[in-house]
Amino acid sequence: MTESIPSGWVDAHCHLTDDRLWNNLDSILRECEQVGIQRWVLAGYSPQDWARQKVLREKYNTRIVASFGLHPWWVCTQTEQSIDKALADLESQLTEISLLGETGLDAFGPRKDFLALQERAFLAQLSLAQKANKPLVLHVVRTHEKAISMLDAHAPVRGWVHSYSGTVSEVRRYLDLGLCISLGGSVLGMQPGKLKQLVESIPQDRLLIETDAPDQRPRLPELAQETLNHPRNLIRIAHAIADFSGKDPIRLLDNSRINIERVLA
Ligand SMILES: [Zn+2]
Repeated sequence: MTESIPSGWVDAHCHLTDDRLWNNLDSILRECEQVGIQRWVLAGYSPQDWARQKVLREKYNTRIVASFGLHPWWVCTQTEQSIDKALADLESQLTEISLLGETGLDAFGPRKDFLALQERAFLAQLSLAQKANKPLVLHVVRTHEKAISMLDAHAPVRGWVHSYSGTVSEVRRYLDLGLCISLGGSVLGMQPGKLKQLVESIPQDRLLIETDAPDQRPRLPELAQETLNHPRNLIRIAHAIADFSGKDPIRLLDNSRINIERVLA
């Protein structure tokens, strides 16, 4: 018998395995369900994170979508040897996952000093995704040109660029590669006209909505006192993006769910 897929809204990107959420997860997920969120696409960080994802997959079934990968931030803290060991671990677990990531390149601040190491890990993960035909969860910060050329060399690619807040011309290049674009709280810091332009540049069958919880707390006055980004904020993020761009928030969330399911199918 195949397991049924929940019909509620889906968070396209969150880190439920993070220590800041892990110990209260039952009540956190209940709070999400109260506002209509029933499924969570996790984003891989490190081998320790993958082990926790497996626990959640076991416990919550199809409500959890597993994605294992080596996050660029983790890669920056490692040696070539420890990365190679983790890549071998990843290769042995490809049958367990729906997506591969998050992976990519991050040139923000001191991380740009580790770009050679990041490119090495990204390249290896692109090859693994290609070999296993897995969609990608991409993290790209301040190095879109390089990431796009590496993705292009592995085309066709599937998946999405998470928490996108770059330019409209780069959106077009990701769309041309066949990728979706996921927007989260980070875009709410953009100048409103720019945000509207960005949302309009993404066709409705390519646009996803995410929280990246517990990080990237949306800059909304009603959340100013909160210390972390609760995954139930998915609805608030959709409403705020819709307000700025003249869209219907419910349609944004419905389309996001449909698009995620299409990529995962
Ligand atoms: Zn993330």
